[in-house]
Amino acid sequence: MDTILVVNAGSSSVKFQVYSVEGEGKLRRQIKGQIDGIGSRPRLRAGDANGNPIADRAYPIEAVPDVPAAMGTAGEWLRDELRIHPIAVGHRVVHGGPEYDRPVLIDHGVVARLERFVMLAPLHQPHNLAPIRSILAGFPALPQVACFDTAFHRTHGPLADHYAIPHQLHAEGVRRYGFHGLSYEYIANALPQIAPDIAKGRVIVAHLGSGASMCAMSRGQSVESTMGFTALDGLPMGTRPGQLDPGVVLYLISEKGMSASNVQDFLYRDCGLKGLSGVSNDMRELEASSDAKAKLAIDYFAYRIGLNAGMLAAALQGLDAFVFTAGIGENSATIRARVVEQLGWLGVTLDPAENARHSKQISRSDSRIPVYVVPTDEELMIAKHTLSLLMTRPSTNPRQERVS
Ligand code: ADP
Repeated sequence: MDTILVVNAGSSSVKFQVYSVEGEGKLRRQIKGQIDGIGSRPRLRAGDANGNPIADRAYPIEAVPDVPAAMGTAGEWLRDELRIHPIAVGHRVVHGGPEYDRPVLIDHGVVARLERFVMLAPLHQPHNLAPIRSILAGFPALPQVACFDTAFHRTHGPLADHYAIPHQLHAEGVRRYGFHGLSYEYIANALPQIAPDIAKGRVIVAHLGSGASMCAMSRGQSVESTMGFTALDGLPMGTRPGQLDPGVVLYLISEKGMSASNVQDFLYRDCGLKGLSGVSNDMRELEASSDAKAKLAIDYFAYRIGLNAGMLAAALQGLDAFVFTAGIGENSATIRARVVEQLGWLGVTLDPAENARHSKQISRSDSRIPVYVVPTDEELMIAKHTLSLLMTRPSTNPRQERVS
């Protein structure tokens, strides 16, 4: 059985999925797993195609001290115990910079170019690249594909791509990239099956997870996003503030004596829902809390989504549908209801029963703009891109490169 391994590596976890390649390039998820607690309490957990557990084991901290070690442990488990020898590996890479508007086959040159964007995604990019490097070293003949969160937004026109700063900086790559592109691309591909007419129209997609952003899509293409140069901008997130006057950063440096790296840690780890509530970065805990600041954090989250929806509707010059996705968007009926309240002026009305059931369409039949809940699947997108690049690259037979 030909398989594709998908890897999504973060600072303390490596998530992976194995897809089998079926007839006509169809992909079927066979295994979903992760090693989390890297460097603290490493643990491998995995389930089969039906979600039944097939592994749950703890490791001593010395055995899995970092991301490459976690990749090695997961790889060994797949190869030695499950006899899985993928024909290619697809990776989520957060930042593709100005060059990459589509997935790319990885070689040492690509890795060197992607290194340049570590500063722009300090929490993600180094960890995304670590398993790529260890697989390149250990299995140099195994094709690897990088799939970027920025690529889907490379269709932005100049007005959406620029900051009002001197051109030299734009030329250097200081641009409004946008992120969560693999998720938006999945939704853009799924919409024609869910609502064919709407897929051709103007849609706002709200990806609300621990990272959160919104994308304005026209005819399935990204025209504007709430995120920019880095994944800090736009909506408030679990631990990131979202839109912030740059004067606040200057204040932190000049009045609080913070260094660039202190400010970086602060903005990526201590702000957002966590900073505002003082309770948690996890929406479930905020919803369960009776603390007034937890309520403020939820109110702020819904309010800012409403404000940004107005901005994106202006970019689209109208709106034909609104879509919720990701952890909060797919699972929290409460937050969806709060957001729809903010969209009331656009003529959106919620069907509370359908919302409580997490139905595909949660707006009332007489709502001027329909509202959908579409579960995202970034890993499937990565597997698809990986297979398609593998099949279209010249003069190689993937089977000959299988790792044995
Ligand atoms: P990421 O992939 O960016 O880590 P997810 O898309 O998994 O994030 O989303 C994580 C967020 O989703 C967390 O804030 C979590 O609290 C929230 N979440 C998950 N399930 C629920 C739920 N049932 N109700 C409210 N929030 C939820």
